[in-house]
Amino acid sequence: MKVKPSVKADKFEESVIREMTRIANEYKAINLAQGFPDFPAPKFLKEYAKEFIDKDYNQYAITWGTKSIRKAISEKYKKFYNIEYDPETEITVCCGSTECMIASILAVVNPNEEVIVIEPFYENYGPDAIISDAKPVYLKLKPPEFKLEEQELKKVFNEKTKAIILNSPHNPTGKVFSYDELKLIAEYCKKYDVIVITDEIYEHIIYDNLQHIPIATLPEMKQRTITISGVSKTFSVTGWRVGYILAPENLTKGIRKIHDFLTVGAPAPLQEACAKAIENSDEYYQELKEFYEKRRDFLYNALTDIGFNAIKPEGAYYIMCEFENFGYSDDLKFTEFLIKNIGVAVVPGSSFFSKENEIGKKYIRFCFCKKMETLEKAVERLNKLKK
Ligand code: PLP
Repeated sequence: MKVKPSVKADKFEESVIREMTRIANEYKAINLAQGFPDFPAPKFLKEYAKEFIDKDYNQYAITWGTKSIRKAISEKYKKFYNIEYDPETEITVCCGSTECMIASILAVVNPNEEVIVIEPFYENYGPDAIISDAKPVYLKLKPPEFKLEEQELKKVFNEKTKAIILNSPHNPTGKVFSYDELKLIAEYCKKYDVIVITDEIYEHIIYDNLQHIPIATLPEMKQRTITISGVSKTFSVTGWRVGYILAPENLTKGIRKIHDFLTVGAPAPLQEACAKAIENSDEYYQELKEFYEKRRDFLYNALTDIGFNAIKPEGAYYIMCEFENFGYSDDLKFTEFLIKNIGVAVVPGSSFFSKENEIGKKYIRFCFCKKMETLEKAVERLNKLKK
C-alpha cells in the first residue's frame, strides 16, 4: 500500500506547543503555553500595513525580500551591532524565522552531516534536522544555570560537524549567552570549520540591562555565521510571517534558492510595513524591554511564592519551572492536571529535550507574553496549588 505518509513524515510528531493551544481552548484554560501575545500589535505598525494594502502592494515581492526591508535590516545591524551586511547579496526575507531556519539548514547541510543542537532547544530544531536529513547531536546545558561548559563542547564537535544551532536569548530557559560562552563556541567553530546558525528572534526582549551580542560580531565569525531574526516577537505579530536571514554571500546564494522554491516570498505589503517599523523603532525597543520586564518580575515572583522552583529568565518571555513540590514527577501528567484542574495551560518540559534525556520531565514552561490581567487571572488560579 503506497497511500501513506513518507518515512520522514513519520519520524517526528506534531508540535507539542501548538497542540497545547488546542487543548487549552478545549478546556477553556488560560493559555500560558504557546508564545504568542494576547494584546494588540503596535498601532504604528498596523497603520503602516494599512497604508501598503491601500496602495495595492498585492503581488509577489522580490523572492529574497523587498528592497525596503533589506535596506532597513542592513541599517539596523550597522546601527545596533556595528556589523555590515550588503542588502543586495547578504540578506534574505522568509516566511518567519521558522522558514529561515529550515531554509538555512537545507542550504548548508548535506545528508548525514552532523548538526549540533543545544539542549534544551526550541522544539522546531529537531524536526528541522530530520527534514534536512542531517544528524542531530545534542550539546547539553547543565541545569539549573544551563551554563555552557567546554567539556560538553569537546564531546560533540568533530570532523563530521557541519553546523551548530544557537539560540540567544534562549527559548525555553531565558538564558542569554555570555560573551565568554559565545567566544568558546566561536573557537570550536573555527577549529572544526563549522557554520553557526543562530536564532536571535528574542534580540530585543532582554532584561537587567544585559546586551544582546550577535555571535556574528565576534572576530572572524561573520563569514561562518547565519543570523536569523524577525518581527514575530519584537512587534507582537506572530501571524504576519516575516523573518530574515543575514549571511555571507556564498551561503546566501544557496539559502535564497531554497527559500524561493519553499515559499517564493513573505507577504509583500507586510514586508513594506515592517521595513518602516524597523527604520523607526529605537524608542519602541526600549519600551518593549520594560513592558516584558514588568511581566517577568510579576510571574516569576508569583510562581516562586506559589512553590515552583522557577528559573529567572534573562531574556525571551518564558519561565521554566520545576514542580516537584506539588507531588508530581512527570511533566505530561502535571501539565494535564494544570489544564484540567487549575485551568492554566503550559508546555511540558520534555518537548524541549531529546527523547533520551529524561531531565525534561522535571520541568514545565510558562510564557508571559500576555496582558497583565491575563497573567493576574492565571496566578489567581495557580494560587489553588498553595498548600
Ligand atoms: N525561534 C524561536 C526560538 C521561537 O521561540 C519561535 C517561536 O516561539 C520561533 C523561532 C518562531 O518564529 P517565527 O514566528 O518568526 O517563525
